[in-house]
Amino acid sequence: MTPIQEALCHIKQQLPQGVELLAVSKFHPSTAVQEGYDIGQRLFGESREQELSQKARLLPEDIQWQFIGHLQTNKVRNVVPVVSRILSVDSWRLLAEIEKQAARIDKEIGVLLELHVADESSKSGFTPAECLQLLEDGLWQTLPHIRFEGIMCMATLTTDENRIRSDFRTANTFFQVCKERFFADSPHFRIRSWGMSDDWPIAIEEGANLIRIGTQIFGPREY
Ligand SMILES: *Cc1c(COP(=O)(O)O)cnc(C)c1O
Repeated sequence: MTPIQEALCHIKQQLPQGVELLAVSKFHPSTAVQEGYDIGQRLFGESREQELSQKARLLPEDIQWQFIGHLQTNKVRNVVPVVSRILSVDSWRLLAEIEKQAARIDKEIGVLLELHVADESSKSGFTPAECLQLLEDGLWQTLPHIRFEGIMCMATLTTDENRIRSDFRTANTFFQVCKERFFADSPHFRIRSWGMSDDWPIAIEEGANLIRIGTQIFGPREY
């Protein structure tokens, strides 16, 4: 086994049943993705449209590409045909554009609503109040090509484990509220995506069922 394959196996062995692993391959070459693929990994996460499109052309068709990170509306047209899920939806405008592009090719696409739970150093995602407002106004129900699958978040960038844990707990509570109030009848709304290389064990303790790991599998990224 290669180092990438060993790292992947090492993590997978520790995952409780029901927790899925998204291998975050951004900034790593297609050969690295192929190594993961060769031992059965199918979920890969990318954060840039061009890099994603290039890899998708080169690599096997049954990879389930997932878009993480900030997505500009003008990139949606190229991203939607390639991915099965977009994890980082943080505005109505983006949702509307995803619907438009998915409708154009008659594809159903999964989305996670990105929740801002971290401290002020990070700005991405809906605040809980904004997210509730979006769900309450009901317009989201007019988007037939979008499948609402759950909530994603990133913890505060800190070594303070208590803060990280409390961020995840906030996200988990928020997920439960959304599930009860808006998605009680939807089996699709079940994804709780938090936890990265440095904090995924805490994330699982706090209810995550889709962790997103890059560095611990592929090594450091060269930007
Ligand atoms: C890059 C990235 C990851 C992976 O981070 P690592 O620390 O390398 O595991 C996870 N989630 C998102 C949203 C990212 O942008």
